[in-house]
Amino acid sequence: ENNTPTPVTFESFGLHADILKAVVDAGFTEPSPVQAESIPLVLAGNDIVAQAQTGTGKTAAFGLSTMSMLDPHLNKVQLLVITPTRELATQVSDELYSLGRFRGVKTVTIYGGSSYSRQIGLIEKGASVIVATPGRMLDLLKNGRLPGFSPKMVVLDEADEMLDMGFLEDIEEIFTYLPKERQTLLFSATMPDPIKRLASKILNDPKFVSVTPKDHTTNEDIEQLYYVINEYERDDAMIRLLDALEPEKSIVFCRTKKEVDRLSTQLMAVGHAAKGLHGDMEQNQRESVIKAFRGSQIEILVATDVAARGLNVADISHVFNYHMPFDPESYVHRIGRTGRAGKKGTAITLVTPIEFHSMQRIGKKVGSKIEHRIVPSLRDVKE
Ligand code: ADP
Ligand code: MG
Repeated sequence: ENNTPTPVTFESFGLHADILKAVVDAGFTEPSPVQAESIPLVLAGNDIVAQAQTGTGKTAAFGLSTMSMLDPHLNKVQLLVITPTRELATQVSDELYSLGRFRGVKTVTIYGGSSYSRQIGLIEKGASVIVATPGRMLDLLKNGRLPGFSPKMVVLDEADEMLDMGFLEDIEEIFTYLPKERQTLLFSATMPDPIKRLASKILNDPKFVSVTPKDHTTNEDIEQLYYVINEYERDDAMIRLLDALEPEKSIVFCRTKKEVDRLSTQLMAVGHAAKGLHGDMEQNQRESVIKAFRGSQIEILVATDVAARGLNVADISHVFNYHMPFDPESYVHRIGRTGRAGKKGTAITLVTPIEFHSMQRIGKKVGSKIEHRIVPSLRDVKE
């Protein structure tokens, strides 16, 4: 735990003037707690492990500090950010572009499924920042496609998600290609033991930042409810809830791709602006669904955990767990899609009497009060 007094303004950090300009432009008026604690530590040259719940501004926490420190005129990659999915890589890259643009920071996004030569061409044109997914990054390094690659700053973003997705070995191997003299930053919403072990391997005397109150990993701005239903009425309950609550924008989490396909089709059939999102869909199809969801042409996104990992779409009013998630971490990640940037949100989980005990266990583990509600009857919905 770190006890430095919390500065209240972005100006107090000593960030580069062109970075501060982008902060004003982005409309950020004051640093979030994780930013207030991390930025001075990073600027002072420390390795850090930072834990903060989703939606608390971790991207800008590492983005503002590192982009203030690098030299965009060196024409050499100085910062490597590793993120779990293509969607997240693009999202982080966009945010870094916007925060670094007045400094002329060039950023390249590296992920699978798109051309090697284009990505390498952009790096050779003098990018200072790479945002990459683990698989493609390791590919490039193993095949010697990045001669002279020696970033002095490395960020592992959403580290818990990367481990969940099975990237631990890839990440450890990536680090064998990185310079020993470097500054390494690890950001994560949760801090399970494998993350702590990874941190102790790849970080050098890190400072710890944790803005998550003990035993309480979820956001106060999220109202958490559960509805006890019978298995056979799961679809019916889901549809009645959507009709009764009329959420502006929501994500419905399913366990399997098949379930996503089935439920999204069914919701469309009863007149909802819904679409499915899962890993078996083509990349461009996934991107167009996410775009339509951001643009509100789609109001209900039906998704698997993996497809919706770290997705930062503004103004999601409701998160539904059509099926309860398997573990508390997943619960925290799912409901963290709502209640972002100080806004209120509602998270609703459907549980059968059999699942009820698991639900209570999750509630206890994440330290949240998850309240019981009754599914509205047909009459309630119609009136
Ligand atoms: P996390 O990685 O912690 O889940 P993000 O970095 O994606 O969160 O940030 C969530 C949202 O908050 C983004 O839309 C981001 O632009 C916004 N944001 C970040 N920092 C600030 C700030 N200091 N003031 C207002 N909004 C912010
Ligand atoms: Mg993030």
